[in-house]
Amino acid sequence: MDSPGLVVWPADDLLCSAVFADLHLHTRFSDGTYSPEEVVRLAHRHGLQAVALTDHDTVEGCVRAAAACRQYGIEFVTGTELTAELDGNELHLLGYFIDINHSRLLNEIARFQAVRQKRICEMVARLNSLEVPLEADTVFALANCRSPGRPHVARALVEGGFCSNLDQAFERFLKQNRPAWVPKFKISALEAIKLLHEAGGLAVMAHPGLNRTDDLIPQLVEAGLDGLECFHTKHSRSTADHYLRLAETHHLLITGGSDCHGHSKGRPLIGTVKLPYGYVTALKAGRRSQPILVPAQAAASIHLT
Ligand code: AMP
Ligand code: FE
Ligand code: FE
Ligand code: ZN
Repeated sequence: MDSPGLVVWPADDLLCSAVFADLHLHTRFSDGTYSPEEVVRLAHRHGLQAVALTDHDTVEGCVRAAAACRQYGIEFVTGTELTAELDGNELHLLGYFIDINHSRLLNEIARFQAVRQKRICEMVARLNSLEVPLEADTVFALANCRSPGRPHVARALVEGGFCSNLDQAFERFLKQNRPAWVPKFKISALEAIKLLHEAGGLAVMAHPGLNRTDDLIPQLVEAGLDGLECFHTKHSRSTADHYLRLAETHHLLITGGSDCHGHSKGRPLIGTVKLPYGYVTALKAGRRSQPILVPAQAAASIHLT
């Protein structure tokens, strides 16, 4: 993989884009460190004119992010990132333009969150059996969200003086097959696509270059997959090109984003991937609930609400 840098890889017709988006951002409502308002302020500072929040198993930050976006004149796209599986492989599905008040989506999300909370207790119990006297409530207080995960346990281990940094916490305890690792519940990818569609949204395979699950793409397309996240901080130029070709082959929409988690995974990544706005226009045209037809025009002249 290339090292992360400023990535702007537009298709030929988008080379002149002066308007950019980041469609993969996390906040404190899952394992990011920024509030929705901070993410939006940074998006504005980096010259982004459209953003989506894609917190893991939650849509909670969307209302606040949308309000902050209105203040800055930035377009907001609702989103989430679901951990899914197909044929024993883990993959992440991004949902865009979902109705954040959709009752079945909210019920399912509540179920995923309950499982996440139980998993924290199981990880803490394992740590306790390893003579690490961490308390689950310490993790929950630190996470202060309904979608806690391993990064919160890692932070609690560092803050409690049990590990010197987050990497060490993962290496010693939390990585797959380490002593405090507990597998995560994953929704079937086919079910997840159905759920996101039912909520009026589009289903996009996140960072396909990290999961190495290309073989699954035809099955996912058959189930209604709408797009591929071709542009991602951890995709090299050739990886992006590979997925752009796959998107073309399967008639899929193209998305991109930084997957910024604030300070929880090294340096904040917002601003490192700038998706030309034309891809957002295409996404909106492919939107399932209320298709809106945006005339083909120079991305820069699109009016942002
Ligand atoms: P979970 O969803 O609870 O299994 O946690 C997954 C999160 O932990 C993802 O956002 C990963 O990127 C993050 N993660 C995995 N390994 C590390 C690491 N060494 N340091 C920091 N974060 C990590
Ligand atoms: Fe994450
Ligand atoms: Fe992901
Ligand atoms: Zn993500």
